[in-house]
Amino acid sequence: MKRRAFVGSTLATISIPGLSESGVWQRVRQDPGDIEAVTGDGRKVTLRGMAVRELAQGLEGRLLHARSEGYETARHILNPAIDKRPALIAQPGDVDAVRRAVQFAREYGLLLAVKCGGHSFSGQSTCDGGLMIDLQRIRSVRVDPTARRAVVAGGNLLGAVDAATTPHGLVTPLGTVSHTGVGGLTTGGGFGRLARRYGLSVDNLVGVEVVTADGRLLRADANENADLFWGVRGGGGNFGIVTAFTFALHPMQRDVISGGLVYPYSKARDAWELYGEYTVRAPDDLFLGIVQTLPPGGGEGNVLLEVCYSGPERDASRAMAPLAKLGRPVADARKTMPYVTAQKADDNTDPRALSMYLKSGFTRNIDSRMAAEISRALEGRPDRLTMVFAAQCGGAIGRVAESATAFANRDAEQTILAAVGWSPKAPAAPHLAYAREYWKVVEPFTNGFYVNDLSGEERSAIEANYRGNFARLSRLKTKYDPTNLFRLNANILPG
Ligand code: FAD
Repeated sequence: MKRRAFVGSTLATISIPGLSESGVWQRVRQDPGDIEAVTGDGRKVTLRGMAVRELAQGLEGRLLHARSEGYETARHILNPAIDKRPALIAQPGDVDAVRRAVQFAREYGLLLAVKCGGHSFSGQSTCDGGLMIDLQRIRSVRVDPTARRAVVAGGNLLGAVDAATTPHGLVTPLGTVSHTGVGGLTTGGGFGRLARRYGLSVDNLVGVEVVTADGRLLRADANENADLFWGVRGGGGNFGIVTAFTFALHPMQRDVISGGLVYPYSKARDAWELYGEYTVRAPDDLFLGIVQTLPPGGGEGNVLLEVCYSGPERDASRAMAPLAKLGRPVADARKTMPYVTAQKADDNTDPRALSMYLKSGFTRNIDSRMAAEISRALEGRPDRLTMVFAAQCGGAIGRVAESATAFANRDAEQTILAAVGWSPKAPAAPHLAYAREYWKVVEPFTNGFYVNDLSGEERSAIEANYRGNFARLSRLKTKYDPTNLFRLNANILPG
């Protein structure tokens, strides 16, 4: 008799000391019976208790429902504005269990959300009434310093990858906040402090393992299932759950020069102008961000230039010299620090303090007109954090052909985002309305958007955003996910 089946059949009648903490015990004690759920196309469906119990026993992890301990924590994602309640949350303990959870979702046609780091602003990793597959137990990083490869399980957060690779003097380019999920960040693209040197995270993938909608585990790389490998590199979660990413690693020195230069709010227009002008010609080892902020509470705003210089020390002053045109900053927090410290500098210690909403787009030319209009139009409110910010693209990202991976926006020089944050206890409507109005000023200057920064209102723009790659993506979707099981993302409809 298999271990799982044995435990399942005996637990109801006997008490085993020490087992009360185990997930198996909780599953039995909190047996929910039948569960009401919803399908991907919004129909109600009853999941019979027996089927739910079978799923729980096959997970090697936990299956949570509304009354389970841990459900409240697990259902939340980073953004408290998103308050959804999946009918079931599966936390599979291994890849076979991920397959079983996918098969279960497919069998019942359930609305399916896949959560890695839970950083989707618009809540693509959760749902009401469906099944959430929470990858928090699928976390391991294996580094082969000789081959310069890292195999990263699909539920990891970015910080774990840096922590495993940098002691070997190696790195793969990931995002700028260490608690972001590798799964969501990488499948959508992956911008970060080293992307201008080494490309997007997707540009550094050499292979993946994917659980597709039929529950198969497929290896995909340049030789095997090459079509799937192409689609996963920028197609978001449309084709399945990536359970393992193999990244190429690059030599990386320990230290970088990183930190922010703060300027008075009155410098906002000049700062945007300088940012636009310099980002298109800066060396690849300089990463620049800009943030124009009006804080809640009605305080004075400011403008921040964020810098991460990872090139030779002797060239650092020259690389950053153009920033001096803005005059003396109010504060200059740039300093030499370990790259891993820089990678954590923007981590949020109280991530659910503010509800957030954002709009985003790619820009190619932040000229003086755009600088003037976007800086002038930003309006604060005492009960709101109001921001417009940008991060640099270009460099190695732009040297990859548009059709080489599914990620199409290779000519972007910057990604620009307008964000509002408010107390989770307050109504969202006025803040959303403001952000949408403000975006009307910014949007005409943009061309396409980053699929990882969805506001949730882009449905009709997805085809154009993938440009010449869309037809191929649509064929892939039909091949690998004909019923659109993986729909909570920048969704590509099967043909
Ligand atoms: P989740 O919310 O867990 O998932 C988001 C989407 O990815 C969902 O559609 C989900 O189904 C899918 N997904 C998750 N895991 C997998 C998987 N293993 N296989 C297939 N699909 C999967 N982006 C950047 O490029 N660079 C940055 O520097 C950056 N910084 C950010 C900082 C913060 C604080 C936040 C909130 C976001 C940031 N982003 C950045 C955007 C980020 O890339 C997206 O929010 C991304 O979706 C986060 O991935 P996640 O795994 O945390 O998200």
